[in-house]
Amino acid sequence: MSGLIEAPPSKINADVHSLNGPEQQRAFSLGGYDILDSEPEASFDDLAYLAASFCNAAAALICFFTPGGQWIKARWAGSAHAARLEKLPRYAKLYDPNLHASDGILLQTGVAEPDLAATKLRIAGAAPLTTPDGLVIGSLLLLDKRERILADSQCEVLIKLGCQVMRLLELRRTLMGLSEANARLGQQNMTDALTGIPNRRAYDHRLAAEVSRAERTGEALSLLLMDIDQFKIYNDEYGHLAGDAALQCVARLLRGALRPYDFLARYGGEEFAIILPSTDLTNALMVAERMRSLVATADIPYRKLSLSIGVSRLDIEAGARALVLAADNGLYRAKAAGRNKVVVGKLREDAVAGSARA
Ligand code: GH3
Ligand code: MG
Ligand code: MG
Repeated sequence: MSGLIEAPPSKINADVHSLNGPEQQRAFSLGGYDILDSEPEASFDDLAYLAASFCNAAAALICFFTPGGQWIKARWAGSAHAARLEKLPRYAKLYDPNLHASDGILLQTGVAEPDLAATKLRIAGAAPLTTPDGLVIGSLLLLDKRERILADSQCEVLIKLGCQVMRLLELRRTLMGLSEANARLGQQNMTDALTGIPNRRAYDHRLAAEVSRAERTGEALSLLLMDIDQFKIYNDEYGHLAGDAALQCVARLLRGALRPYDFLARYGGEEFAIILPSTDLTNALMVAERMRSLVATADIPYRKLSLSIGVSRLDIEAGARALVLAADNGLYRAKAAGRNKVVVGKLREDAVAGSARA
């Protein structure tokens, strides 16, 4: 809502370790729901509206108990009181939360705290917001102009709406957990487990995106395909685990030498690819040569290793497939020329024809 005075974060996020008893328990519990300082949400506002209208009250709030006061998640007021309620800061002193039992409506609240007194409204009733383990962490609060007694049916509805607020809070926490887990899974799906660099799937996505960007902008795009030389022998001599460690070592070396906009991926077993956006063939050859010499001179456990590298540049007419075929051709010829070499790939005429863009 507009015009609200936000609490300084230090007031709400008080150091939970400095709190005692119920305040500390509430602070831990609210931390788990991650609700404090969240944006207004229509579903909470709707529950406040339903509570006020069913109980015929001037206004309703959903608030959570923070050290020294309440943090207001949702508010609703009829037009006669809307302006006053808007003035209520989001972090406010309304009443003493320790008056609540874990169930039942709170009717008698004693003297209203200053922020509530300023609204000229009184507490007409408050349903506790109780966690599954019985801790009251907030309330669904009814406000009215005058003192009044709620009917039993109104108390019942208020309690039920309080339970709905808690269900919403639990659901919200589950959804937030799920979306975090999804983001983590998405990340894992795109990462090679051994080397920690992007995997083949991530490479496919990025290559498609970079090719269409290059087609759109007309900028150059180059590709390096790299294969560790005689890696089978390395594995045979020092074992598969040593081979794994060597692959990690090569990936680390390559990653450390990338420019910020280059994209390195594990292409296959002992093969790597680097997508080079905005890079013409001359510069791609320089990057490839830098990578080749870096690996050839690095101290890798047991013995030296080397890379053969095929280089290609995107021909917009020929498309993405031709780019990959050409780099592959360069790699093949680098092997044939004795390994530990960088070679620019060529496409056979029939391969170009076969690679006509889809
Ligand atoms: P070339 O120079 O012609 O590329 O010879 P190479 O021995 O590297 O090629 P080859 O295709 O014969 O063998 C590749 C080897 O890479 C065999 C395979 O066991 C090894 N390799 C592939 N993935 C992994 C892996 O994840 N870990 C380990 N340790 N070895 C792997
Ligand atoms: Mg290979
Ligand atoms: Mg190899």
